[in-house]
Amino acid sequence: MNKGHSLFISDLHLDPNEPKTIAAFVTFLKTRATQAEQLYILGDLFEAWLGDGDNSPFADNIKNALQEFTARGIPTYFMRGNRDFLVNKKFLQQTRMSLLFDPTVINLYGNDIILLHGDGLCVLDKKLQSFRRKMPLLRQLDKLVPMSMRHNMAKRMRGKSKKHHAMVSDEIMDVCPNEVKRVMNTANVQQMIHGHTHRPAIHTIALDQQQSGQRIVLGAWHHEASILQYNADGTFELQSFIIK
Ligand code: MN
Repeated sequence: MNKGHSLFISDLHLDPNEPKTIAAFVTFLKTRATQAEQLYILGDLFEAWLGDGDNSPFADNIKNALQEFTARGIPTYFMRGNRDFLVNKKFLQQTRMSLLFDPTVINLYGNDIILLHGDGLCVLDKKLQSFRRKMPLLRQLDKLVPMSMRHNMAKRMRGKSKKHHAMVSDEIMDVCPNEVKRVMNTANVQQMIHGHTHRPAIHTIALDQQQSGQRIVLGAWHHEASILQYNADGTFELQSFIIK
């Protein structure tokens, strides 16, 4: 394995009803991820985060695993996705992760890279965009909603999302190529890493001034886990392993 490298993951969609994925993530934090210099989690770590007040065995299990991992001294960064937009200060403090706003430009081993969850690039999906605009307000109002109501809310949201996915076309669910270019040109970067679409791939993008860039898309963790290894020499590789 390459010595100096950082790892990127997203869209694990951790859910109490998916113990295999939870186990794969916990194992990942104890093994593979310990070799990394930095770990980036780019949103939708959870299928639905009910709020930082969630003290269920599920939430505690994930918090403990992350605490144990960050206690090793490996800088760990967390960006919210559209499923875990309620992640807040308490969770981040408990797990000792640093919050990344969406989008954030980082300099990794000398390369400028823009990081996003990816939902903001799906500009054709008007419903998703209108929900996205409400997320900061919902996060502010978070304390007003009792935990008992949240389970139902999460259930309703999941149902709505399934229906929405079944109704809208593949093109609408994917990122808008013009938006990708606009974002990369505006940020003046040649690399972009995001998740959300569950379409792991490395795309070549034609940018302004005849430059070419790369859009690296992380995959979801379902039957397979998806990991991006970004090496100190600037090379990178999308990897996957089967979740048993
Ligand atoms: Mn998402």
